[in-house]
Amino acid sequence: MSVKLTFLGTGTSQGVPVIGCACLVCVSKDPHDQRLRTSIMLEANGRVVVVDTGPDFRQQMLREGVSRLDAVVFTHAHKDHIAGLDDVRPFNHRQKSATQIYASTEVQQALRREFYYCFDEHRYPGVPDLTLNTIRSEAFTAADIPFVPLPVMHMNLPVLGFRVGNLAYITDANHIPEETYRKIGRPEVLVLNALRHTPHPSHFTLHEAIEVVERIKPQYAFFTHISHQLGTHDDVARQLPKNIFLAYDGLTMHV
Ligand SMILES: [Zn+2]
Ligand SMILES: [Zn+2]
Repeated sequence: MSVKLTFLGTGTSQGVPVIGCACLVCVSKDPHDQRLRTSIMLEANGRVVVVDTGPDFRQQMLREGVSRLDAVVFTHAHKDHIAGLDDVRPFNHRQKSATQIYASTEVQQALRREFYYCFDEHRYPGVPDLTLNTIRSEAFTAADIPFVPLPVMHMNLPVLGFRVGNLAYITDANHIPEETYRKIGRPEVLVLNALRHTPHPSHFTLHEAIEVVERIKPQYAFFTHISHQLGTHDDVARQLPKNIFLAYDGLTMHV
């Protein structure tokens, strides 16, 4: 099965440019240096799944002209990955159905806390209509698209990456357990977080991300969840090994 992958956002939690910052990257006129919060969209057979709904979800849906959403799959509950969930409402209205949410029990707890009004017994009319589905360790399907959970660590926080056919998607990690390396195998396309050059407690640096790519040996790798501290898209892209690319907002491919 081939899926169409769209990078909805490729920026770290504050996005790029950062509010008030006048660094080279934040004032760059290159659209590749404007990064909304990290998220991807997967499409197959007319059905649409988004992985994470960050604060820029609404803008991302408008930019890509998305008129249908079947499911949201969550990697973890940090605000830059969940904050936009309230904006699934237009899809509820258009499709006259609930949005299917796939999340671990830990993430579901956070969603019930952060979006409590969606789960009230007597809900206010017009709040998001969400159906929770639990991700356990086994493979699952969302909108008929098959997902294999890839547990990784984001400092102390367990986060899920996903293998979808020939794609492996890992955002927000600084450690990949051996068992997960086995589940990743050798995908055609690996998407991996690469925050910046200097060490960070919960994200791979550019150097660490390149080491992970060299171990997994995908055909192509794309880096995401990028900070303004990494440098301009142009500068960094020129220095990367042949099969490694910086992702950018709006990039699409068939995997
Ligand atoms: Zn993040
Ligand atoms: Zn995070």
